[in-house]
Amino acid sequence: MCAMYEVITPGTPVHGLKGVGEKTAEKLHELEIRDVNDVVFHLPTSYVDQSVVDLREAEHDSSITVEGTVKTEPKLAFFRRGMSRLTCFMDIDGIYTKVVFFNQPYLKDKLIIDEFARVYGKFDRNKLEINGQRLIFDTSPGYSVKYSLNRVMHAKTFSKLVAEVFGSHHFNHDLPEALKSKYQLWSLRDALHELHFPKSRDALHDARRTVKFYELYQFQLKLMHKRSEERVRNDHYIIDYDIERLKRFISTLPFELTGDQKAGVNDICRDFKQNISMHRLLQGDVGSGKTIVAGICVYAVKTIGEQSVVMVPTEVLANQHYESFKDTFKDELTIERLTGSTSRKEKDRILEGLRLGEIDLLIATHAVLEDDVAFNRLSFIIIDEQHRFGVKQRQKLQAKSYRKNILYMTATPIPRTLSITTFGDMDVSIIREMPKGRKPVETSWHTFDEMDQVMAAVRAQLNEGYSTYVVAPLIEESETLDLKNVNEIYQAFVDHFGEETVELVHGRMKPEEKNHGMHLFETLEKKILISTTVIEVGINVPNATMMVIFNAERFGLSTLHQLRGRVGRSSRQSYCLLVSQPQTDNAKLRMEIMTSTSDGFELSERDLEMRGPGDYFGVRQSGLPQFKVADLIEDYRMLEYARKEAISIFEHMEDSR
Ligand code: ADP
Ligand code: MG
Repeated sequence: MCAMYEVITPGTPVHGLKGVGEKTAEKLHELEIRDVNDVVFHLPTSYVDQSVVDLREAEHDSSITVEGTVKTEPKLAFFRRGMSRLTCFMDIDGIYTKVVFFNQPYLKDKLIIDEFARVYGKFDRNKLEINGQRLIFDTSPGYSVKYSLNRVMHAKTFSKLVAEVFGSHHFNHDLPEALKSKYQLWSLRDALHELHFPKSRDALHDARRTVKFYELYQFQLKLMHKRSEERVRNDHYIIDYDIERLKRFISTLPFELTGDQKAGVNDICRDFKQNISMHRLLQGDVGSGKTIVAGICVYAVKTIGEQSVVMVPTEVLANQHYESFKDTFKDELTIERLTGSTSRKEKDRILEGLRLGEIDLLIATHAVLEDDVAFNRLSFIIIDEQHRFGVKQRQKLQAKSYRKNILYMTATPIPRTLSITTFGDMDVSIIREMPKGRKPVETSWHTFDEMDQVMAAVRAQLNEGYSTYVVAPLIEESETLDLKNVNEIYQAFVDHFGEETVELVHGRMKPEEKNHGMHLFETLEKKILISTTVIEVGINVPNATMMVIFNAERFGLSTLHQLRGRVGRSSRQSYCLLVSQPQTDNAKLRMEIMTSTSDGFELSERDLEMRGPGDYFGVRQSGLPQFKVADLIEDYRMLEYARKEAISIFEHMEDSR
């Protein structure tokens, strides 16, 4: 497969180009330009349309080139940190226009009263003002382009080099003809040429469309390639489960599966029956019922006498899954749990059971990765909160399997745009619909002055026997800022509800203390749990119907949503109270979004809009591709088309094999 930015093969190194000596080659290398492909893909960063327009017809807020006569002496003002503003008035097409240049003080001498000047800038029609970006001396019509060259080379020199490549090389890679005609795209050569040597606005637009599509398409092909590597075809991967037994089991469940759950089960079971190794992501908000979907599929694997494992990132989650699987399966499956705190004796017993194939399902933390853990026939791997595990860990577990089938689960709703880029190499099943009877958590936003209301709301739940989570910041008393300390808040709740009702758990406690506190809350001995965000990771108390978050502005939308997901786990109406005095517009907006929707996928889209794709995953998941022309958000629809085409090409290849 050809690399993402390769249209000329074989690509000559730059020092093989006419006029490029040792020195120029070195300079180009500094810009990561090594061969002719790098030259043609080193695209301009901006374009200035130098064709002059009539200001009387210019649109508000458009970037335009105009010309006229300077009418007043330019005034230069300096302000902080060497910033400057140069102002003068010009007569442009009969309009007396204010022209302002920021941080270009040297233009003062070029703007001369009663002389002619040509200006490129942004027009504010309401103020009749132009925010000048350039004074144009080269009066040739058309576009001038700007390259990012870090001062190692003049734009003109680079342009010549680009022209040289176009003149001397044959472009032998292009988009497939069928796609070009279907989407009305140019040839890559013509498109790239237009981007370097633009002729008109329309042509530039079409050329950009072509290169964008090419980038997105190549990227999707790469993902498809990875996907096909993961989805190896071999009859060995067929899990020919007993469908009748599976149906019978499903009919014993105490509830009816939602449509999305059924679809998820079908997706996975279809993968089982196919001669393909599964590589699938199951996405669904907290409480959407992913666990039962995975569980049903574990049962399917059991019907052919083979084993499954669920790997989770924490001991708390392992315990929770263990309880919930035990509860669902009763005696139908043999389930064991392996964590860092499993005793030696217990571990030996479990290892024996795994080897002999007596254990159907193992719920485990990283402990399962140790070398002495071996299975009889491990054919279904479930990795929960997959983003918390590394590639090596995944491979280590995979190496223990008999038939490789992996299901990843995540409770972090990921916007579609990012989902098809970051998880483009996986098959994805999404559970969007919540189980029936589940009421969305009612969310409201309060200030610290409304503490009485907050306490009354907690009291109301308590009077009916329901529990409340309270999340507060953990900070030292000395650094109070505007934050309410977890200890202060604990004290306030104790004063209000009494010590016998309120429990405190925070990040600085020893694990035993924490577990003890959480245990009291889980067993309903204490109905109010004050904590820092430790509860963010796995705790399940369906009796809790209220979540109070102090200084909610400290958290991003996804964390707030995860916290809120701790309640609303029964058919009871639940509530989330955000106590916050946000200082920034952004924080205020987050509070407003939280109170307006409880759909995790919608929230994730809003979050993405607010933060942009770069920030979305933070540093940890910087797996997002950097495109030259395409933009993941703006060109989202094109991305979907590119993906569709890439999939269709790959399926064609798979079918003809
Ligand atoms: P997730 O793993 O997606 O966070 P769970 O699988 O823990 O969600 O499900 C949350 C709760 O909802 C569990 O108590 C589960 O038994 C229950 N549940 C799951 N599916 C349904 C359904 N279709 N109808 C009613 N309750 C359900
Ligand atoms: Mg299979």
